[in-house]
Amino acid sequence: MMLPISLEFFPPKTPDGADKLRAARKQLYALKPEFCSVTYGAGGSTHAGTFTTVGEILAEGVDAASHFSCIGATRAKVRDQLAQLKAMGVKRLVALRGDLPSGYGIGGEFQYASDLVEFIRAETGDAFRIEVACYPETHPQAKSPQADLQAFAAKVRAGADSAITQYFYNADSHFRFVDEVRKLGLEIPVVPGIMPITNSSQLLRFSDACGAEIPRWIRLRLQSYGDDAASIKAFGQEVVSNLCERLIRGGVPGIHFYTMNQAKATMDLCEALGRC
Ligand code: FAD
Repeated sequence: MMLPISLEFFPPKTPDGADKLRAARKQLYALKPEFCSVTYGAGGSTHAGTFTTVGEILAEGVDAASHFSCIGATRAKVRDQLAQLKAMGVKRLVALRGDLPSGYGIGGEFQYASDLVEFIRAETGDAFRIEVACYPETHPQAKSPQADLQAFAAKVRAGADSAITQYFYNADSHFRFVDEVRKLGLEIPVVPGIMPITNSSQLLRFSDACGAEIPRWIRLRLQSYGDDAASIKAFGQEVVSNLCERLIRGGVPGIHFYTMNQAKATMDLCEALGRC
């Protein structure tokens, strides 16, 4: 059986972006994803765009997961949005805390993603399959790797079915994290999140903030290519396909691609892996 893959998109901000995403999805469906997920801006900022994109994917005959972040939200609002998603036929959620600028979101009734998972289960039973986030290189706000692992365990015990990792470029961090999860007696699938490398400055900037380390040798190589986009892409493709191969050999249950709404990089990686 082919390794299951899933694909992540963000809700487009303009009609042109929506057209480009439709075209990208059309190509990517050749990979037969198990599901496609759509991110959700913290504080509900992309609520309409997320739900519209999720609805389009379902209408295209592909299973869709809505990301759902709880920071700053009230129980009444979450209840209402869960009812909307259920009515749309959504059966899968990626349940998150989300991040808000400091000060914003005070008054919200959820503190951590585990509170959201618990609430979704209490309100909707088994109506949704629930995915949660995890961090092989430790979430940037965690007190320690051990505390972060316990926070992850709390999400699983609250009812998560499966986990998707933050992206990483060091396979050992993933395998170690999964070992530690198993030592706690948690058996849920932990699917690595893979970020293709197509752009150097964006990746380096973004990674600092989200708890994903770019190893020194990759960072220096990327910086050495300057504006040479072709070299960055060729190097990125080699590094990330090697990473995926190692993860597959190590027995991962699937791969989740952060597509950044682009088809080519993910298609090229899957082709290199013999996936299409
Ligand atoms: P949590 O699991 O709540 O953890 C947040 C922090 O709190 C961690 O440091 C954890 O160690 C700590 N913590 C948790 N529980 C406790 C506790 N009981 N006591 C003390 N500390 C605790 N963001 C978006 O806004 N929209 C998206 O669509 C989105 N999609 C994502 C998809 C994936 C696969 C991943 C990996 C991340 C995504 N994010 C998204 C980013 C995510 O919202 C941020 O990383 C956020 O900072 C943490 O969210 P979480 O759900 O992991 O939070």
